[in-house]
Order: sequence, then structure tokens, then C-alpha cells
Amino acid sequence: MSAGDAMVVIGGGQCGARAVQVLREGGWEGAITLIGDEAAHPYERPPLSKAVLVGERTPEQGAIHREAFYREQRVDLRSGCAASKIDCAARAVTLSNGETLSYYRLLIATGAEPRRMSVPGADLAGVHVLRNAGDALAIAGELGPGRRIAVIGAGFIGLEVAASARQRGCEVVVFEAAPRALMRAVPAEVAQCLVDLHCERGVDVRFNVQVQRFEGEGRVKGIVLGDGSVVPCDAAVVGVGVAPRVALAQEAGLSIDNGIAVDPMLRTSDPHIYAAGDVCSFVHPLYRRRIRLECWRNAEDQARVAALNMLGRDEVYSAVPWFWSDQYDMTIQIAGLPAFGSTQAVRATGAASKVFFAFDEAGWLVGASGVGQTGEIARDVRVAQELIARRIRVDPERLADSATKLKSLLAAAVH
Ligand SMILES: Cc1cc2nc3c(=O)[nH]c(=O)nc-3n(C[C@H](O)[C@H](O)[C@H](O)COP(=O)(O)OP(=O)(O)OC[C@H]3O[C@@H](n4cnc5c(N)ncnc54)[C@H](O)[C@@H]3O)c2cc1C
Repeated sequence: MSAGDAMVVIGGGQCGARAVQVLREGGWEGAITLIGDEAAHPYERPPLSKAVLVGERTPEQGAIHREAFYREQRVDLRSGCAASKIDCAARAVTLSNGETLSYYRLLIATGAEPRRMSVPGADLAGVHVLRNAGDALAIAGELGPGRRIAVIGAGFIGLEVAASARQRGCEVVVFEAAPRALMRAVPAEVAQCLVDLHCERGVDVRFNVQVQRFEGEGRVKGIVLGDGSVVPCDAAVVGVGVAPRVALAQEAGLSIDNGIAVDPMLRTSDPHIYAAGDVCSFVHPLYRRRIRLECWRNAEDQARVAALNMLGRDEVYSAVPWFWSDQYDMTIQIAGLPAFGSTQAVRATGAASKVFFAFDEAGWLVGASGVGQTGEIARDVRVAQELIARRIRVDPERLADSATKLKSLLAAAVH
């Protein structure tokens, strides 16, 4: 095989699996290889902390493509095989089995990995992180009526695990070092709605708490906090964020800046290599700063743009970020980047549903966070996403007024 006719994608996750599909649909006739270090065929991660933990589905039911897809689309899927080296000069990737693959264009979609805690006992059995199917099955095996589950970190993963564990009848305590939940992601009021819901369902959520160590002999049986108190537990789940998997790119000499740094077309510092999904950072044309996103929609959208650009197009990645989380019967949906806002307008969209709109100092809408029932927030969050994308200037008072039909703001834009 000559380098001239091979597309190689490293990372058989959300982004890699979608990218190979777009490469074929986009007309690539040559070889396509997808290298994934997990044993399973590519699957969706969002159900892992929700339906898989509550026992409603298996990870395999979240397969991104049907089994036959790879054969029918002539995608050479190398599951259980890691890429161990990229030689940019030779345009070749070395695999863990010693094989070398040449590429015409390469996509790095290696995702992110959970941060571990560096406190004593963090490696005891029963202390888990959650990123892949194996992690989810191991945690699911810990859950059951009366089991005491400690969750470290009140971010999205931690709170989703807490909700699932509670639904399985566990006694759940959440420890968060910060003064509130979801510190980087949503306004304080949205975080509070979720925390209230957890408290109503019987979860013990504690803020400003430092975990000093995990204790137990061979297996965790308690958590020692900063004030010296010990909270007994049968298992713990650490959800303290993720780090982009950049080692391979870094060793290959590609630019790194909170992830693999890519240009607006998702090209790395080597013009033959692209990066997309959780692993890359990019300057968003609307926000004009380098950001890195960790969400499903971004992985899907960047896969598409990267693949088309690998085929020779010049598409700029400009999608307004969109994210969701489900906890119990409540959904949270976020469009844009609320953290970049300095003022806000609140709109009641249902009995217990609200959308919080965030504005920057210049008065531009930069984000919207909806919390409540999906049917009561989804439409308004979608309109907010469009208002942000089209840079339509809106009056916060009109957004807050539930009598205003938000769609009308798309037409009657004040520029
Ligand atoms: C439990 C969980 C729940 C989530 N829930 C939501 C949600 O509700 N809403 C939402 O918007 N987002 C959610 N996300 C985030 C979303 O799933 C991720 O943003 C998305 O999976 C990112 O896709 P990716 O392809 O960039 O990375 P990944 O899906 O992580 O895929 C990367 C793949 O590359 C593999 N890999 C890494 N290095 C190598 C190598 N050297 N060689 C070969 N393969 C390699 C990895 O093992 C992995 O399979 C959730 C994530 C998790 C973990």
C-alpha cells in the first residue's frame, strides 16, 4: 500500500468512528484504517454513566455502527490495537503489534482520560474512574440496595453516577472540593437546581471538602477527609475531570496547547495530520479564544469537518457548542459557553423548568443553560444556539419574558 491512498484514524471512539464514515461518504475510494486500543467496536459513552449503570442497557447496545458497517464500507478496523508512534517525516504510524501503516492523511482522535487522584489509597480495589465500557461494568457491579457509594467530584460524571447509584438503591455521598457543583460549566443557579434534586432524592452532597486519603486493606472501606473524619464506603468513584490524550502527538513533535493545537480547519502543526474531539484545542471563531470541548456533539461535528478537510475541503469548524446531561428525570442542556458570560437573564419555561441566558460584557449572548424537562427547555436552548451562531443581538428582557416567542427574535434581529 502506498501512502498515497490510505487514510488512517487513530482512536476508535465517537469521533474516530464517525470520521471513517464521513471519509467514505465523502468519496474516498482508497484504504481507510481505524485503530482503536479498546477491545470492543466503537461505542457511545454517554449511556455508560446513565442507562448502563442503572442496568437498562449494555455498552454493546450503544455501538456506533452495526457490525457489518466496517466490512461493507471497507474500513479496516483494528480493535485492541494501539498506535504507539507517529513518524511525521515518513508519514507512518507504528502499531503496538509492531506493524507500520503509511498514511496520506492522518486523524488523531484519541480522546481524553480520567484524572486520577494522587492521594494515598487511590489505587485500592473499589476506587473507580469512568471512561470506558469496562469501567462502567465494574462500577455497575458495585451498585445495589444499601451499598455505600462515595463519589469524588460534583461535575457531570460525578453527578450522573450519583443519580444512577441512587436509582439502584445505594446510599450515596458526593464530596466536592469547590464551594459548588459544576463550577466551570454552568451558572450557580443551574448547579443549585441539580444539587437540590440530588438532596431531594437522598444524596448527601458536601462542598468545600478535601479528600485526604482512601483507607482499607487491599480494598477501599472508607474515605479520610481534610478534617480527619472518616466516611465509610463500599466503593468510590472518582470524577475529577479528564486530560486530553496527547502523548502520541507530543512525541511526534506536534504543537500542544491544552490538547493537540489545531487550526480552524482542525489541522495540526503538521499539514498532513488532523486532530478532533476531546483531544484537540482550537480557536472558536465566535468566542475568539482557544478552547477544548469534552462533549458528544463536538466529537460528532468535528469528526465531520476533519474528515471533509482530509478529503481536500476547506471547512472551518464553527459550530456553537451543545451539551446535555440526564440525571433522574431531569435534563440539562447547554448551548454556547455560559462560563464566558458576566450577566444573565432567566426565563421560566415550565413548572420546574428554566433557561438561563448568559451575556458577555459587550452585551452579546454567549451561552444558554436549560434545566428541567426536555420538552420544556430543548426548543429555547436550540433557539439560543442559533442566536449565538448568527450573532444576533437580543434584548435580555425580551428573552426573560415567557410571553416572547423566542423564534420571533431570530427574524426580528436587532444588529
Ligand atoms: C461516562 C461518560 C458519559 C458522558 N456523557 C455525556 C453526555 O451526557 N453528554 C455529552 O455531550 N457528552 C458526554 N460524554 C462525553 C462524550 O462521550 C465525549 O466527549 C466523546 O466520547 C469524545 O469522543 P472522542 O472520540 O474525542 O473520544 P473518545 O470517545 O474517548 O474516544 C477515544 C478513543 O481513542 C482510543 N485511544 C486513545 N489512545 C489511543 C491509541 N494510542 N491508539 C488507539 N486508540 C487510542 C481510546 O481508548 C478511545 O477508545 C460522556 C463521556 C463519558 C466518559
